[in-house]
Amino acid sequence: MTDATTLACPVPASRYDRVVLGHGSGGTLSLSLLRDIFLAAFDDLALHRLEDAAVLGAPPPGARIAMTTDGFVVTPAVFPGGDIGVLAVAGTVNDLAVSGARPAYLTAAFVLEEGTPLELLRTVARSMAETARRAGVAIVAGDTKVVERGKGDGVFITTTGVGWVPEGRSLSSSAARPGDKVVVSGPLGDHGIAVLSVREDLGFDTELVSDVAPLTGLVEAALEACPTIRCMRDPTRGGLASALTELAEASDVGVVLDEAALPLRPAVRAACELLGLDPLYVACEGRFVAIVPEADAPRLLEALRRHELGRDAAIVGSVTELHAGRIALDCITGGKRWVLRLAGEQLPRIC
Ligand code: MG
Repeated sequence: MTDATTLACPVPASRYDRVVLGHGSGGTLSLSLLRDIFLAAFDDLALHRLEDAAVLGAPPPGARIAMTTDGFVVTPAVFPGGDIGVLAVAGTVNDLAVSGARPAYLTAAFVLEEGTPLELLRTVARSMAETARRAGVAIVAGDTKVVERGKGDGVFITTTGVGWVPEGRSLSSSAARPGDKVVVSGPLGDHGIAVLSVREDLGFDTELVSDVAPLTGLVEAALEACPTIRCMRDPTRGGLASALTELAEASDVGVVLDEAALPLRPAVRAACELLGLDPLYVACEGRFVAIVPEADAPRLLEALRRHELGRDAAIVGSVTELHAGRIALDCITGGKRWVLRLAGEQLPRIC
């Protein structure tokens, strides 16, 4: 491969099959990378205008603006059921959705390592475009930077999302009350175990695929059927245990989980037993946990199960005035144990 820096007249990104430092120059090579990979996949007009900033429409009257940002470093970049592109869109869209917001706009910043195959970037860009379409969100601005070989790991993506919280809707992590029910929208830990299953040093065989998906539709269906939902979280890094601990602390209540009610696929259960992992801490990327008044829990469950992403939704526990800020697990074996906040990172580079 010719070194781009020695060329007087840079060739288009399509003449290369890997990222070169020149793709981060801000010049002709950067533009060809942008056109050949990203603009070819993303069709939003605000992006194609290539201004310094996207100038966008205002929220509907009475709506409030929700905004969130997240960096994605998953390894490997392509895993069973998805890739870092699906993850980078779904992760940010889901943080908006569980806050009660309807996702509207997304920006994406890429840090690319010299030598990364352009074919991988094409795959990732197509995944992002497809996931954004599913989520009903427009990718309106972006940036690419290139770092030298060995100073990155293929591709890192940071996405920022903006959405609208409709008038009258207010979800709050401090709103859980004793007696409320804890509902999860589907099986736990699929994403973490699916990614782990393809890491080079762990050769166990499983058909498991990541649950990564944009939750916009499922969350809207849930809130329509059950506007009394107190709060929602997506149990990503740190899993259900971490998400519930945050809610319990914010609401100053305790939570009791019923181990027998937790939806776990046999492959996740088996992998966790083999590796000594607790599925309560394994990341999901297409699930949410909701706290809902007891009387409304069956209605929520019914609405979730009607949706393709919520078929295995379950009521997994309840909120108690006892042990504020702490999660207890009623074990299948009959005992009870505390589910403590995760001390370190159980599974690094999972999202
Ligand atoms: Mg979240």
